Amino acid sequence: MQNNFICDRNLCTGCTACFNKCPVSAIKMEENDEGFLYPVIDENLCINCGLCKKVCPVNNVNACVNTEESLQYIAAAPDNVRKISSSGGMFNIVATYVLNSGGYVCGVVYDDNMNAVHILTNNKQDVLRMSGSKYVQSYTGNCFQQIKEKLDNNIKVLFTGCPCQVAGLKQYLNKEYENLITMDLICHGTPSPELFIKFLKEEYPNEKVLDVNFRYKKDNWGTEYNIVTKTDSGIYSNKINDHIYTKAFAHNMCLRISCTECQFAQKQRTGDFTIGDAWGANKIFKAKKLYKDKKGASILLVNNSKAKNIFDELKKEFKQVIPVKNYSQPNMQYPSTKHPSRDDFFEKNKTMTFKKAFEETFCSKKNVAILNHCWENCNFGAVLTGYALNKVCKLLGYNAQTINYNFGNEMSENYIQNSLFDDFKRKYIDFTMPVRNYVEFEYLNNYFDNFIVGSDQVWRYQIITKDNLEYFFLNFAKPEKNIISCAASFGIYDIDSELNVKYTKNATIKDLYIKYLKNFDSISIREENGVEYCKKLGLNASLILDPVFLITKKDWEKLTDEDKSPKEFHKVAHYIINSNQTESTVNLAKQIITDIQIDDFIKLNSKDMSIQNWLWQLNNCEFFVTDSFHGCCFAIIFNKQFVCVNSNTKILARMESLFKMLGIENRLYKNFDEIDYEIIKQKINYEKVNKKIEEYSLFSKEWLVNALNKNITDDVIKSKIKIKNEIRNINKEYAKKHRFKYFIKYLSYTSKYLLSVSKKQKQHNKFKKDLFKLRHKHLKYIQ
Ligand SMILES: Cc1cc2nc3c(=O)[nH]c(=O)nc-3n(C[C@H](O)[C@H](O)[C@H](O)COP(=O)(O)OP(=O)(O)OC[C@H]3O[C@@H](n4cnc5c(N)ncnc54)[C@H](O)[C@@H]3O)c2cc1C
Ligand code: SF4
Ligand code: SF4
Ligand code: SF4
Repeated sequence: MQNNFICDRNLCTGCTACFNKCPVSAIKMEENDEGFLYPVIDENLCINCGLCKKVCPVNNVNACVNTEESLQYIAAAPDNVRKISSSGGMFNIVATYVLNSGGYVCGVVYDDNMNAVHILTNNKQDVLRMSGSKYVQSYTGNCFQQIKEKLDNNIKVLFTGCPCQVAGLKQYLNKEYENLITMDLICHGTPSPELFIKFLKEEYPNEKVLDVNFRYKKDNWGTEYNIVTKTDSGIYSNKINDHIYTKAFAHNMCLRISCTECQFAQKQRTGDFTIGDAWGANKIFKAKKLYKDKKGASILLVNNSKAKNIFDELKKEFKQVIPVKNYSQPNMQYPSTKHPSRDDFFEKNKTMTFKKAFEETFCSKKNVAILNHCWENCNFGAVLTGYALNKVCKLLGYNAQTINYNFGNEMSENYIQNSLFDDFKRKYIDFTMPVRNYVEFEYLNNYFDNFIVGSDQVWRYQIITKDNLEYFFLNFAKPEKNIISCAASFGIYDIDSELNVKYTKNATIKDLYIKYLKNFDSISIREENGVEYCKKLGLNASLILDPVFLITKKDWEKLTDEDKSPKEFHKVAHYIINSNQTESTVNLAKQIITDIQIDDFIKLNSKDMSIQNWLWQLNNCEFFVTDSFHGCCFAIIFNKQFVCVNSNTKILARMESLFKMLGIENRLYKNFDEIDYEIIKQKINYEKVNKKIEEYSLFSKEWLVNALNKNITDDVIKSKIKIKNEIRNINKEYAKKHRFKYFIKYLSYTSKYLLSVSKKQKQHNKFKKDLFKLRHKHLKYIQ
């Protein structure tokens, strides 16, 4: 296994399947500097058999999950069992069943030093110690080998653990065993064992900790519960909000990095059973009463026919079992989002106490949330500016995350489905938790001290519409936060005419824009006409480059090199979004390059092309034709001979401004007939252009650093509060006036949803209905 990790290191869950499988014991599990265990191969012992790669669940996710549709229940064991369990006591009932039939149970206990470890036992007292969730990553050691031995001797075994651990066991066994029952947890993620022990030592320096009950139930199961720590000198109880370790866990500051990209956070489960907390049961009519008794309820998924048979036998053991449908939780759909300062938190823990590191990073001055059109339909420019700004902020030393706000056009008729875009975003852009409405946007204030909107057409009214104004003008950010626009764009020449729309009786959209703009601590714009517009409104704005220019050509090339898919060279690439100009492009290119054949052309498109391939084709062609702003930007970055032809004079401001800055105005035409071939045949002087880019890029980065370092004074906060109140009053007037209209619209979407015939139609209408519900909620909130 030379120079080769068993799987993608960021995805390695530490499940120990490889460690247990290696035929020559060449693998050791060693702690990394965050305190998580990773396999390390001794190259001197390794015989290159490849078994570790083969067994690794991360390389074989689909082979580890059940394919049958799960049955769902909300279940509660008798009260005495629930008292000792985290939720509804499902684990205890299955464990007792296995013990009573002469079997063994493998689950998690604290050892004498408070390490969470998996043990295999048939001792009832030890199984009781397994009850209760331990919010720390457990070590499975050589349990998989011990389990195999029992199974091979026809002894029944129950294995419980995180989905990745269940997957690890199944891969290790590599065969179905009738006498094995697996049970995975709905898993939020697991914190670092090292930090857990460090926290305990710091909190109780002179005592020996004997137990931490993260879910002490005393009439308060639900959102409010206590964490009870037992030491050799006393018992300490904390509310969840006063317990910084649990807070750090809940806010994803100390999770294993694989948990933030977890491939097992999905509907298809690894275990025969899945257990979790029945959060949300209070919203299910039949389960309301059970939820209210505050003794705990489990959500139980029965994932295959083997589990169904066992569950039929066990139903009588429960106090109550309620069948449900379509139950879901975030961690059954997607992984927990990495806290923006997770890495900083780990770093600071090397030199500070857990508490101090938490206080310094939870809402650090270094945390930056960015809002742009990154989640837009498959749009190369939108995603690449999003990527670039996120990366630039990181290079400048900030913890940047892009706000995961998708304003819903995947259900529109023109939506392009290209999963390669999603793959790129997932791999290369650090996102916040999904945010869907105003309240969730406001929640970001808990984590971020700086908010940036930009770049691209984030202030183009036609695109963002009045429904998104509050978001794209960062009105959700609290007055004490640092509010910045980075290379924002109004998108058109005649900004006034687009904003001259009545909003309420006394205010136009322009009036609202002015107030929103006044709320900013620093404004930078991507186009000259936008800067002039702000100046006319009495606002100070700077002209800076689009963020794609703020990282180097080399950085972009590195990105394209990471994509190993086969690619073909083409002399001429064209990327024309707004019309089919293939013939005109061919005629144009023939004037520039002699001996050109039809195979020498490639039409770049977002339907089936990866972002890296798009960049690669652009970088490797001899001549490029486009009508796209970002097409031009990348042609310039890659020093290509190119021409931009765009007949939509309304939106040319962005190209004109950029071309003027770089002295290449003669590359822009309104139609193909106007092109001056003599000019186009001349090579662009990139020595000059690159120098200018370097200067502007330096200025733009300096501008951004100054904006991020700005001190928000009390006077500024006061004036922001005043403006926010004025905005609130305008929005309140609007909301009141349109309340009835929105209600009727909601009813219409609901009835359309109920009457929809096809599955696709239903999905489309459900989405619209949900979206509308959120907007409606938002309007209510304004009032
Ligand atoms: C780290 C972690 C994150 C979780 N995240 C969620 C979540 O996001 N949503 C949700 O609904 N439920 C989550 N759970 C599960 C939930 O807290 C309960 O464990 C579950 O509902 C079982 O409840 P119970 O009453 O049936 O079991 P209990 O009687 O409380 O038994 C707990 C079971 O969990 C196992 N276990 C305990 N600690 C660990 C550990 N560190 N690693 C692996 N297995 C362990 C034990 O072996 C035992 O089988 C999480 C649990 C853990 C340990
Ligand atoms: S088998 Fe488990 S521990 Fe080994 S590399 Fe894969 S995920 Fe990591
Ligand atoms: S390749 Fe084979 S011998 Fe080498 S570490 Fe992996 S399992 Fe062990
Ligand atoms: S979140 Fe995923 S990777 Fe992390 S412990 Fe849970 S199942 Fe394993």
